Amino acid sequence: MVKLLEKEGVKTIGRISAKNFNWPTSREDSLKVLNYFCKNLLVHFGDFQDAMHTEEAYLFHSRLSFALNTKMLSPKEVIDSVLDYYYDHKDEIDISQTEGFIRQILGWREYMRGIYWKEMPGYRRTNKLRNQNDLAPFYWDANTKMNCLHQSIKNSLENAYAHHIQRLMITGNYALLTETHPDQVDEWYLGIYIDAIEWVEMTNTRGMSQFADGGLVATKPYVSSGSYINKMSNYCKDCHYSVSKKKGEKACPFNTLYWNFLDSKREHFKNNQRMNMMMSLLNKKDSEELEEIRSRAKAIISNPSDF
Ligand SMILES: Cc1cc2nc3c(=O)[nH]c(=O)nc-3n(C[C@H](O)[C@H](O)[C@H](O)COP(=O)(O)OP(=O)(O)OC[C@H]3O[C@@H](n4cnc5c(N)ncnc54)[C@H](O)[C@@H]3O)c2cc1C
Ligand code: SF4
Repeated sequence: MVKLLEKEGVKTIGRISAKNFNWPTSREDSLKVLNYFCKNLLVHFGDFQDAMHTEEAYLFHSRLSFALNTKMLSPKEVIDSVLDYYYDHKDEIDISQTEGFIRQILGWREYMRGIYWKEMPGYRRTNKLRNQNDLAPFYWDANTKMNCLHQSIKNSLENAYAHHIQRLMITGNYALLTETHPDQVDEWYLGIYIDAIEWVEMTNTRGMSQFADGGLVATKPYVSSGSYINKMSNYCKDCHYSVSKKKGEKACPFNTLYWNFLDSKREHFKNNQRMNMMMSLLNKKDSEELEEIRSRAKAIISNPSDF
């Protein structure tokens, strides 16, 4: 496959290695990936689906999205195979692992498909939060001191893959916290991932991740400070920044950007009940602390390469 791309002079971004090319390119390959998932990964899928680890790019994820989106496998076929395998191995596999997996396909994937066909063509222009900033340049080379972003972007460039929580709570989270224009976020996701086909890429990026549709797909924005990232990953222990610090040069940038984002978007969230608790915590911050947050956030957003 890599030789063919080179021979045909196809221009690519990221890093491609023939030795490590592990994506299915035929129906036969795709069925092997599906069988491998059922036999080896389903048993722990639900327990670890939100975890992130520097040594494990795929963890217990299926890597089936590319085969599904290119129609080498049908969603029904994947669900049926997983169910059959579960019924034959009920003593080994808990129903929660199976339910957790099927929900992703029957729930999220079908939902995104419905949203796309219902909302297009206007959906591609949504930017309810009026975000206007540029995407940080390190999205294209992984060159940043923030270890969570470095690891997730490096994976993405090397494997054309990141799992859901990396896409949502690392790269998506940072793009939203830095108030990046959704067009630029869309372009990046569409260009980077092997499974990026517009109907499923755009609804996830603009809808689920960037809240650009104002809450049609997600009822609240998926944003977090560093503590969530620390809870779900091993990224923070080797980071230049300290996840527990809220102030000073070594403070985790996500801690600053999180409160700055809520402050900057107060008007948008004041009537969102799911944001009430965080907005009332924000309201308890005194003006001096808020000024410090705003000024550091401005420095991070204006000079992303320094962080
Ligand atoms: C910002 C962002 C952009 C995304 N862009 C894409 C994209 O371009 N193409 C794409 O297929 N998925 C996209 N997703 C959804 C999800 O991250 C990927 O489907 C998943 O990571 C693919 O890896 P996997 O096959 O190992 O998934 P697993 O974790 O093993 O999940 C099993 C299957 O469930 C389906 N699925 C899970 N979550 C979603 C979801 N939110 N929307 C649709 N299907 C889902 C996929 O078909 C996936 O193969 C995106 C998510 C986010 C937050
Ligand atoms: S300390 Fe902050 S920037 Fe560093 S890895 Fe943790 S969350 Fe990311």
